[in-house]
Amino acid sequence: MFSKLLTVAPGCDACGLGYGFADAGDGPAVFVMLFAGFLIVGLALFLEVVYEPPYWVYFAVFPPLTILICLGLLRPLKGILLSLQYRNKAGQGRLESQKRDG
Ligand SMILES: [Zn+2]
Repeated sequence: MFSKLLTVAPGCDACGLGYGFADAGDGPAVFVMLFAGFLIVGLALFLEVVYEPPYWVYFAVFPPLTILICLGLLRPLKGILLSLQYRNKAGQGRLESQKRDG
């Protein structure tokens, strides 16, 4: 489905479906922020409450962890949103008469 990290390929390798409809916009980033924020803030709070480490531990652990989690989540979430877009025929709003034409 992807030709680069987040670039959508022109079509499906397996069945030839064109991905011209695919435009998730900011959708994946929103979910990544929600999930990653929950995970990372939760981890930071847990770390502070349970171990009370010095501050340098936070500066050493959380920036790389944040980048890894965000990059790791973006691609699967974009794939999910594009699949849902196709499944639910999501797109720009159209009038009823235009829908029948295709
Ligand atoms: Zn396919």
